[in-house]
Amino acid sequence: MNEPNRTADIIVIGAGIAGASVAYELAHRGMSVCIVEMEAHPGYHTTGRSAATFVGCYGNEVIRAISAASRSFFDNPPPGFCDHPLLADRGALYVAGEAQLDALDDFVTEPLNLGLLERIDPLAVLEMVPVLNAVAGAAYERDAQDIDANAFLMGYLKGFRDAGGILETGAEVRTLIRRAGAWAIDTSVGTMSAPIVVNAAGAWGDEVAYRAGTQPVGLVPKRRTALTIDPGEPCTDWPLTISLDETWYFRPEAGDLLISPADETPSAPCDSQPEELDIAACIDQIERVTRIRVGRLISKRAGLRTFVHDKSPVCGYADDVDGFFWLVGQGGYGIQTAPALADIAACLVIGEDIPKDVQVRGVTLESLSPARLSCDFL
Ligand SMILES: Cc1cc2nc3c(=O)[nH]c(=O)nc-3n(C[C@H](O)[C@H](O)[C@H](O)COP(=O)(O)OP(=O)(O)OC[C@H]3O[C@@H](n4cnc5c(N)ncnc54)[C@H](O)[C@@H]3O)c2cc1C
Repeated sequence: MNEPNRTADIIVIGAGIAGASVAYELAHRGMSVCIVEMEAHPGYHTTGRSAATFVGCYGNEVIRAISAASRSFFDNPPPGFCDHPLLADRGALYVAGEAQLDALDDFVTEPLNLGLLERIDPLAVLEMVPVLNAVAGAAYERDAQDIDANAFLMGYLKGFRDAGGILETGAEVRTLIRRAGAWAIDTSVGTMSAPIVVNAAGAWGDEVAYRAGTQPVGLVPKRRTALTIDPGEPCTDWPLTISLDETWYFRPEAGDLLISPADETPSAPCDSQPEELDIAACIDQIERVTRIRVGRLISKRAGLRTFVHDKSPVCGYADDVDGFFWLVGQGGYGIQTAPALADIAACLVIGEDIPKDVQVRGVTLESLSPARLSCDFL
């Protein structure tokens, strides 16, 4: 086996936003932490392929609570975290057709959405997004934001290194064996050892569990496609525009327009690529709901949004083996929930309680625990 032979208090598997953020929090609590990432670059998989938005009216109660608790970090990151704001005003527009007007009423009056949404007149919608075809009704989330996802990830990694953390890239974790109170971890660049591992391997989370001989939690990676196009007119001021039933969305991205069919096709963990059928479906949807005619694709990408069945994250120690901590299942919300989820995870890893600011929002150990899934899944 090759060098290095490394020991740490904690080894974090995966340098996406989940691994980077929890490693940062643990290193800042005085732990010696090593992140092990199989790719040459951090953020290569889902984190580098997101739509990078912060949307309050998204996800279940647990997601909304963790997103809300994360907002202050985005607004006021720690000194030196990055040299420009992480958020930029965008707004999110939820549009409904004639047949969806009752659903729109329910959406606007849903208790979780109170204070976040306002009804918008269809004519005002067309002023905001002039390319839209007929809209019967709409709601607007004024405070939805763009996230600078790359600066966010790099901020965590820089802060992690500044606190003494080590990032090993090109290092795939192959096997994990529990021996004498520590994990002996065989990676493609050598052996490592730590009493605690944090499984932040995203779509590969259950695969890592198999390699450690612990029970999986039933992760389902789901492919989502994102294309960028030239919409044929200036779009930088358009809001994130989503169909109420989430069957398509678009938003400006670096001067172009990102369009997505909001697909959720189950997939094995892999280097996800867009499928021709999804690209065609996306173009068809966008051409039906707008007057845009899609010419050349400027870019195309796909990423895996990974869920367990209740669509809440999995954050807590496995109960069938010592020292194996889960931080997976962030689905389509892993960027906007990262600050508070990393804080929760770091507290639980070192044996503390869930932070008070998250508790008061109703997040419990049980709502995140891997144990909630084992009965359903096995
Ligand atoms: C199209 C799209 C749009 C999205 N839009 C948004 C959005 O607007 N807002 C939002 O908050 N979220 C969004 N998301 C979701 C968000 O991107 C994810 O929830 C988040 O990136 C998940 O981060 P992660 O660190 O868990 O996974 P990843 O970024 O996939 O990181 C996991 C890492 O683990 C590594 N790994 C796996 N196995 C091993 C191993 N055996 N050894 C070593 N390393 C290993 C992988 O190489 C990978 O780098 C979107 C996702 C997609 C695909």
